[in-house]
Amino acid sequence: VRGIEASWVVIGDGVSPPIARGAVLVEDDGRIAAVGPADALRRARPEARFEPARDAVLLPGLVNAHAHLELSSLRGRVPGGRGFVPWVAEMLARRAELAPEADDEAIGAAVGELIAAGTAAVGDVSNTLATVRHLAGMPLVARVFAEVFGMTRAAGEVMLRLARERVAELGQLPENVSVALAPHTPFSVHPEVLSTIAALARGGRGPTSLHLAEHAAERSYLRDGGGPFAGFLADRGADAPDWAPPGLDPVRYAARLGALGPHVLAVHLTDARPDELDVVAAAGAPVVLCPRSNLHIELRLPPLEAMLAAGLRPALGTDSLASSASLDVLAEARALRVRFPNVRPGALVAMATGWGARALGLAHLLGTLTPGLRPGLLAFPHPPGAAPSDPEAFVLDPRARERQVLVRPGGRLTEEAPRP
Ligand SMILES: [Zn+2]
Repeated sequence: VRGIEASWVVIGDGVSPPIARGAVLVEDDGRIAAVGPADALRRARPEARFEPARDAVLLPGLVNAHAHLELSSLRGRVPGGRGFVPWVAEMLARRAELAPEADDEAIGAAVGELIAAGTAAVGDVSNTLATVRHLAGMPLVARVFAEVFGMTRAAGEVMLRLARERVAELGQLPENVSVALAPHTPFSVHPEVLSTIAALARGGRGPTSLHLAEHAAERSYLRDGGGPFAGFLADRGADAPDWAPPGLDPVRYAARLGALGPHVLAVHLTDARPDELDVVAAAGAPVVLCPRSNLHIELRLPPLEAMLAAGLRPALGTDSLASSASLDVLAEARALRVRFPNVRPGALVAMATGWGARALGLAHLLGTLTPGLRPGLLAFPHPPGAAPSDPEAFVLDPRARERQVLVRPGGRLTEEAPRP
């Protein structure tokens, strides 16, 4: 057993206080054996090989709960700031031109970037499933969401069949990857197809994912079929959908289709109102926020304080490199820290670690420094003899630039939850 001692140990669950002069005992396979005050652990576990104490804050590996790795070669190529519809039109034009899903180099580099950032798990939305073989065997756990869209019933059913075929073609999945069918958004998938996918997820082994209440264009389209998205469809000569706008807000519409609950990640909720957040919380739906992407596309932030007040425990994701500057989920927490100074740093750190693991259904494998898990271990060094007074605020400070991956994460999706 390896003993790693540091100025501070942050558990990552958003509840436990950081441990001053703490230590983490790690088995050879990366499993956490014990966490506690260093003096007590040295006495209790004399067989452990303790390394010299580090001037650093220790953190579990990060959880990036929402990415689109197949879009990685679009990095920096899709300007934002004009709202979702102009952004997505631009993104689709670049995508048609560059075929980013075929760019193995860019996808491979993106996976490398996740690992270098200390990422233990990723939720990866994919239309082509080209990312699965890049994720196979890597030192992180990946939940891949095979995304389906289609405004008409016929288009939705064809896309669903194609997605199922792509999943079947993968054959036996690598131990660290799972794949679930996922609806794109409430406004871009035929309601019956969306309901079918949601019902499949309800019986699945992990959650699926839905972009929900991301922007005002979604709200107006679902209310009465109007707004900028209607113009977007008309411009593209799209077939008229064979369903009527439900006249509901995005959250209540998702609930009506069976797509709001523990089996579906509600991604974004940037445009959600307080009463809708109450509905999300009551349904027990896990929430994922992508604040830097929202800032890039819509110049908006998710209503984080209202979410926390509603009892939600959001996860964080970077979204794709077509709307975000990096795949480092801690940069999302840092972006929130600047803009929500009243939110506890411990909550922001948990959003990038333990709450992310819980949202993805991976809390039994990683996300927190808990005995029995293999979450990986990160160190954020500070100047010798100058331990920060608040270690969670310290790791959220952009000046804490250095980051070391001391222990690689190692969860396998086939693993059972550890016995208490
Ligand atoms: Zn997305």
